[in-house]
Amino acid sequence: MYISTRDNWHEISASHAIKLGMVPQGGLFVPTSIPAVPQDKLKDMVGASYQAIAQAILELYLDDYFSDEIQAIIGQAYNSNSFGTGAITPVVPLEEGLHILELWHGPTAAFKDVALQLMPHLLSRAIQKVGSTKETVILVATSGDTGKAALEGFKDVPGTRIIVFYPYQGVSRIQELQMTTTTGNNTHVVGVKGNFDDCQTAVKAIFGNEEFVSELGNKGYELSSANSINWGRLLPQIVYYFSAYLQLVNQGRLAFGDRINFVVPTGNFGNILAGWYASQMGLPVNKLICASNENKVLTDFFNTGIYDRRRSFKATISPSMDILISSNLERFLYETNGRNGQAIRDWMKLLQDEGVFEVDGNTKKAMEAIIWGGFATEEETLATIKHVFREKGYTLDPHTAVGIKVYDDYVKTSGDKTLTVVGATASPFKFNASVLQAIAGEEAVKGMDEFAMLNELAELSGLPIHPGLLDLEQKPVCHHRICTKDQVQFQVEDILGV
Ligand SMILES: *Cc1c(COP(=O)(O)O)cnc(C)c1O
Repeated sequence: MYISTRDNWHEISASHAIKLGMVPQGGLFVPTSIPAVPQDKLKDMVGASYQAIAQAILELYLDDYFSDEIQAIIGQAYNSNSFGTGAITPVVPLEEGLHILELWHGPTAAFKDVALQLMPHLLSRAIQKVGSTKETVILVATSGDTGKAALEGFKDVPGTRIIVFYPYQGVSRIQELQMTTTTGNNTHVVGVKGNFDDCQTAVKAIFGNEEFVSELGNKGYELSSANSINWGRLLPQIVYYFSAYLQLVNQGRLAFGDRINFVVPTGNFGNILAGWYASQMGLPVNKLICASNENKVLTDFFNTGIYDRRRSFKATISPSMDILISSNLERFLYETNGRNGQAIRDWMKLLQDEGVFEVDGNTKKAMEAIIWGGFATEEETLATIKHVFREKGYTLDPHTAVGIKVYDDYVKTSGDKTLTVVGATASPFKFNASVLQAIAGEEAVKGMDEFAMLNELAELSGLPIHPGLLDLEQKPVCHHRICTKDQVQFQVEDILGV
């Protein structure tokens, strides 16, 4: 069962929590207790398939889903067709004691696929379970990447429709084509003449328009979102922490029972929080290393106990981590402050009103016991891509490069030589301009278009172009809608025919 981090909601089942997404009065759903995986059971899973590990983990949390339902959902989400590799999230060695967990083999070349290939199926069943007969309409505002991952996840999922709004001419050509070439009879993509904030504000306004929401309800539609605070997005991410550990044991690189570190390139704090859940379930984790870019609110927070978003936002070459408010941190704070919902309410109110809050000494100590925070500048990120490419022959994307740089800092500061796994959150092809700039120099990429860059990177790296980015120019564009920022609600009406 699930409760609110702000003690402002009654206990509900997994399907209710997934259908609601977040607590209507504010607050996030967390499991009433964190289930344990006993060490003997964990040992039995060495050599098990990703799907079998997923089954074991998901069953512990999805109290009102049947075992065979979960199995069917996993089969739909994770197969070598969607991920191009039987391991789903393979671990590869980088150097002595350091491994890369490749989370980007899914259809859109970033780690969000791991959650978004599964979550729509969880949601679709959740809607049936709570007895709703309405069609669920997922509204997404995207700065580029989440939109495509959500489109692929919800494509042709029964009982759902998805409408994605992106900043027209504000995303890369590849990102735009990724979205506008999406097939499926329930997918819609709209370019908004404005920036990402305009898209997000317009979508939020629709959710907040009670009259419109109730009119949609009368016509048989119910709005929902797929954002990363939904428990249904967090849960699938716990699985790959177990998978990584078990792969290392199975490959003979790690003795069963030994602890490991994970380094996680972090934005909204969802990915690393899943690692924390894994550690609480009994996975032998020593430290979780939280890697930020120049938007280093979290680094400062873990160092000082003060969360301060009063600073200017920086657009970086690791854009998926350009975040000043890490929404999922609320769950971690609730668990480390002794589940004090009143304190969470106070802190979140301060964050909203003043832009800053400070945790108490005990909470800070509890955080320090498991998390270490660091950051990388833009120059350091590019230098890391170049260095790792030259020295180790491995091509990093900028987000993952931030993780490697922060890992180096961690080792220098702590002297800790525990075996470490860095989560690789995107394929280098997804951010090919920065990667090429780093490994071939700025001059080499001048005037090159994005498609030429894909080929150039394939040549230099010796890697095949990620299948999700291949042949985009040849695919038919299925979505042509463009609107101004004032017409976003009208687009929803027009698409739904209300
Ligand atoms: C979303 C994203 C992140 C940040 O993950 P969080 O769960 O929000 O912390 C990091 N890297 C990439 C490539 C992403 O798409």
